[in-house]
Amino acid sequence: IAAQQAEQRGWHLYLVGGGVRDLLLADPDQPVTLNDLDLVVDGFHQSADVGAGVELARSLQALYPHARLDIHGKFQTAALLWHNDPDLDSLWIDIATARTEFYPYPAANPEVEASSIRQDLYRRDFTINALALRLTQPRANELLDFFGGLLDLRSKQICVLHSNSFIEDPTRIFRAVRFAVRLGFEIEPQTADFIRYAVSTTCRARDACLGESGRVVAPALQTRLKAELKYILQAPDWKPALKQLSDLGALSCLHPTLALDAELWQQLRLVDRWLRRFDPQQMFPHWQLLLDVLLARLAPLERGFVAQTLQLPKDSITRLTTLSQVQEQLTEALPKAPRPSQVVQLLKPYDVPMLMLVAVRSSERSHRQQIWKYLTRWSQIKAPLDGHDLKRLGYKQGRQFKQILERLLAATLDGEFGDGEFGERGGSD
Ligand code: ATP
Repeated sequence: IAAQQAEQRGWHLYLVGGGVRDLLLADPDQPVTLNDLDLVVDGFHQSADVGAGVELARSLQALYPHARLDIHGKFQTAALLWHNDPDLDSLWIDIATARTEFYPYPAANPEVEASSIRQDLYRRDFTINALALRLTQPRANELLDFFGGLLDLRSKQICVLHSNSFIEDPTRIFRAVRFAVRLGFEIEPQTADFIRYAVSTTCRARDACLGESGRVVAPALQTRLKAELKYILQAPDWKPALKQLSDLGALSCLHPTLALDAELWQQLRLVDRWLRRFDPQQMFPHWQLLLDVLLARLAPLERGFVAQTLQLPKDSITRLTTLSQVQEQLTEALPKAPRPSQVVQLLKPYDVPMLMLVAVRSSERSHRQQIWKYLTRWSQIKAPLDGHDLKRLGYKQGRQFKQILERLLAATLDGEFGDGEFGERGGSD
């Protein structure tokens, strides 16, 4: 239907990017469902008007009033979204007019102008993402492969389109690794060299990924960098991805001193293990805690700065800026807290992510054990009686209430009722 709408206006319409890649990679015997489509409109004999994509999206919304339409003014792109639609389930279609991008300086936000489909594909990250499938007549279903993407798909190579690509947009370094690991592809050797070159010239100097002092940092770049880090760290295969980023020197894009040494690697694996055991339902965003552990490796004064520049959530920024203080405090206090009730008293002001961060960074096994026991058991233990019980027993409500309850809880935690290990939920009347 989108193709018909485009044809009526004398335009070509193409499916581009990941949708074409995934169709070509799919098992021909299995049905393929694409929930996220990128469409590009191009003029027939000349470039389409810059607003063509938006006009097409509007015409589709008129036919599908249930769809939500979002228009992004600056780049003249539109998104149509069906969420839990009875017919379409969830579907996201981005529609853009074929365009060229110019980077006023490396890692800037690109400036955009309407152009041909070939130019549009040339601005893309990798050959395997620069394929287009024509949806309109004549020659509907024709595959446009200007840069050898099909060959690279077959030989499982992540290959960049031009040597400057990573300097223009360093988030592509993270994308290269993400696709390589996810698809089981190899980063083509010359592309890997381009990455190393971009890292050594741009990222290490810190003027690409996080902005050099004196220049207004392109906020969209950090948002995209954070998004890529999130994709990588929340994927099941985050370990090989991080290892590959480290081998390429790309972690220095986050900070020039950041390196994946054995100690950091151990901390990351430990927090991953703890999170999977402690929080299998993923109540906490695991990727965020992995990133916290990564950034906690930096010097204390740098942690908050990098977290802020990456526009991490506020709780992450607070955690990273207060970490060294909390860590110091707990390192001193935990050895003086042999009883479970003392550990509870000590740890209860902190949230779970902070405690995990402190634990995995601690060199003391006994501290990790205390924190783990607090998180998994002691923090959930309740006093055997509550305020209602005390009232029933004839106590008058007042300050002593709180004291009695606290002492009851401490006695329960410390096993003074002798009802099993640390008196878990024991002690009847
Ligand atoms: P995924 O399955 O992970 O969503 P995708 O290829 O659809 O993969 P998107 O991030 O949705 O990835 O991007 C859609 C398309 O936009 C890509 O296939 C690529 O052609 C292009 N693209 C996205 N980010 C960049 C970038 N930083 N530089 C150049 N092209 C990009």
